[in-house]
Amino acid sequence: MPIPETLEDARATLSRVFGFASFRGVQEQVVSRVLAGRSTLAVMPTGAGKSLTYQLPAAMLPGTCVVISPLIALMHDQLRAANANGLAAAALTSVDMDRELTIERFRSGQLDLLYVAPERASQPHFRELLTRSPPALFAIDEAHCVSEWGHDFRPDYRLLRPLLDAFPEVPRLALTATADRHTRADILAQLGIREDGLVIAGFDRPNIRYRITPRDNALRQLRALLGEQPGPGIVYAPTRNGVEKLAAQLAETGRRVLAYHAGLPAELRTANQAAFVASEDMVMVATVAFGMGIDKPDVRFVAHAGLPKSIEGYYQETGRAGRDGDDAVALMLWGADDFARARMRIGEVEEHRQPSERARLDALANLVETPTCRRAVLLRHFGEHPPETCGNCDNCLHAPGVTDATQLARKLLSAVYRTGQMFGLGYLEKVLTGAADERVTDRGHDQLSVFGIVPGEEAALLRPVARALQARGTLVTNEHGGFMLGGDARALLKGEGRLDLVVAPKAERTSRRRRAA
Ligand code: ADP
Ligand code: ZN
Repeated sequence: MPIPETLEDARATLSRVFGFASFRGVQEQVVSRVLAGRSTLAVMPTGAGKSLTYQLPAAMLPGTCVVISPLIALMHDQLRAANANGLAAAALTSVDMDRELTIERFRSGQLDLLYVAPERASQPHFRELLTRSPPALFAIDEAHCVSEWGHDFRPDYRLLRPLLDAFPEVPRLALTATADRHTRADILAQLGIREDGLVIAGFDRPNIRYRITPRDNALRQLRALLGEQPGPGIVYAPTRNGVEKLAAQLAETGRRVLAYHAGLPAELRTANQAAFVASEDMVMVATVAFGMGIDKPDVRFVAHAGLPKSIEGYYQETGRAGRDGDDAVALMLWGADDFARARMRIGEVEEHRQPSERARLDALANLVETPTCRRAVLLRHFGEHPPETCGNCDNCLHAPGVTDATQLARKLLSAVYRTGQMFGLGYLEKVLTGAADERVTDRGHDQLSVFGIVPGEEAALLRPVARALQARGTLVTNEHGGFMLGGDARALLKGEGRLDLVVAPKAERTSRRRRAA
């Protein structure tokens, strides 16, 4: 336990150096542990104030805090912030030209903080440097990068362990915003931190309203969002081309719109980011390259035009909305093709990583398909025990209807199988509804037992059924977009399992019909 005076000192330093009146949430707990020399994994959501938990000890402890951080841009932001607070901080990276000077400052004990990238930290000469002047603390930022279960695995992080173990007396502080139970356990094991060193901050962001809906017309759906939601917002699109196109289209609404992706020149990226941070109404259309380390508390909405990579990614990206605590919206538009592509990509990664990738995608499928509270699904994913309903997500606000679509799903799977697992939904629809079509009769598919077994009034459900089956991997697509059986398809055909289909809430359905009329 930290000696009470130390905590008093910490509070004094908090206000004197950082200008904060009090600790937030678990900060005090983490700082106390670190000052007592106990290794810790702190899981704190974005915006919870992770940097302070090592910068404050760095300001208090004799000796340097070595911070391992994966992104040079992020490092430099933090460096600027630390220097602004009067801490002596420097970075050793490939782009910092004053390496000799930094090493000299470190050796002579002038640095509070030394930022270093993992690939450099794991090199022998860095270890030698530390041997001569051992650090006061190792802070490992974005610690989920050490885990293959994490959403952002970086092999370089695996090489850190020998460095840490070379200094057994130096406490380790691992930090991450997003880690499910698996990843958390893995980080502890990989970085050699005892299980009782885990400190978790609450993940709930009650002011964010989650809305997740199939994408029928992204542009129309996003325009509607822009129409009802003033204030600055971010729209994430999956590709650079998608970003450019969407930015141009959304600019036609008259709202100020800028684009951001890694393919733009560095100066333009910096200028666009600065303009967004300063603005009160701007929409930034961006790839996920945008947002890390950006301090803009009044973002009123974050929209995903396509499926995010994982629940962790989704949580982190939506977490950029409403940091000021005022109401904010997180809208996700997803399509069956997003899942088809993601499942195809899993087939391309190394085999030993496929199970974790698949589990990650299944978790995401569960989030988008659930008729229950989105927040509860999210928080359970992060190991919390939330109430069943939150009152501030789409499903809580307008309970969706649920239809048992098991029979229809079986009919569709059976048609996929009997036509040879090569046709897309359009063709299968014709077969199933018994449409008079030459292509069907030429192939003799009008002779199949599945021909015409779906009555007209059920036909409209075929598309949502196919979408749900694709999301959960029961249907997968070949390279031509033809459906093949996957996942639990055979079990479902044999009469096991079921498919409950979420149908749009009544309010939304009538408004859609009105618009169509
Ligand atoms: P994270 O890295 O967890 O996303 P940051 O370390 O960037 O969060 O901190 C988020 C914001 O909260 C920053 O603007 C920081 O200055 C502020 N902050 C951190 N700790 C406190 C505190 N105890 N009181 C008030 N503001 C704080
Ligand atoms: Zn809810």
